[in-house]
Amino acid sequence: MLSSNTLIYGIIGNPVRHSLSPIIHNRAFRRIGKDAVYLTFEVNDLHDAIKGIRALGIRGVSVTIPFKSEVISYLDEVEPTAKKIKAVNTILNNEGVLIGYNTDWIGAIEALKEMTDLDGKRVLILGAGGSARAVAYGLKESGSHVIIKNRSLSKAKELAEEFGCMYLENGLIWGVDILINCTPVGMYPMEKETPLPKEALREGMVVMDLVYHPLRTRLLKEAEEIGCKTIDGLSMLAHQAAFQFRLWTGIQPNIREIKNDLKEALERNKNERD
Ligand code: NAP
Repeated sequence: MLSSNTLIYGIIGNPVRHSLSPIIHNRAFRRIGKDAVYLTFEVNDLHDAIKGIRALGIRGVSVTIPFKSEVISYLDEVEPTAKKIKAVNTILNNEGVLIGYNTDWIGAIEALKEMTDLDGKRVLILGAGGSARAVAYGLKESGSHVIIKNRSLSKAKELAEEFGCMYLENGLIWGVDILINCTPVGMYPMEKETPLPKEALREGMVVMDLVYHPLRTRLLKEAEEIGCKTIDGLSMLAHQAAFQFRLWTGIQPNIREIKNDLKEALERNKNERD
């Protein structure tokens, strides 16, 4: 039940109408009995949107494509890790002071840790965009040896140099323990595509795909056929949202409940499309 005391949270991005974040946060608010609501704001002008957050006293905001880097210049403070990654996906409005955080990297690392240790592991990251930066940062902090492969070589090289990783000029690499897709390849409507040929996968490898639409991407299906352990994009989404929620409320939500909410929402969306 909304009231005159209801606190407002939300997500800014464009496009953002498909976002699953409102389901996560609204249900989590309800579970802890907090008088708060989480809305989607499809933003064209970021400068105006940030002024709106300040003017309306919106308490917390998730930031998504294409504003994760640009938003940094509008904030009062940016937490050091988000500064290093050069991306903010969470804003906390602390009595008028807007503070930026990055919870993507923690989300990715927590999702991986459910399946494997990271210290000393060889990890191949496909992509060198915002999410690849967050994942590479988290892996280096966790003691992994990281190799970057990206469509644009210059970006792979840049990211590798910045975070002390290796990069691949061309071809594939054998003998990696973990493979992570940080590109949109395999995402609807490219769901028939895969970012890596099946021949490059090996039994026992851990394969994580950040794409969650569809949940079982071609990469993950082929990885399962070969006997790899797989992690879908929903896991990272749930964990990064849980950390956002904790920043805003001080309460750690139950990750299993968040994952169940997300699976239910994806299933509902699929049925509506079919
Ligand atoms: P981004 O910053 O735009 O970076 C995209 C990366 O993918 C770039 O390195 C780009 O290469 C590469 N790429 C794009 N299209 C490609 C193609 N057709 N073939 C090969 N490489 C291609 O995007 P992002 O924020 O990192 O997001 C990447 C994916 O992760 C998206 O699908 C997003 O939805 C997903 N994601 C999921 C979560 C989660 O919680 N599960 C969180 C964040 C992101 P170039 O450098 O050559 O352009």
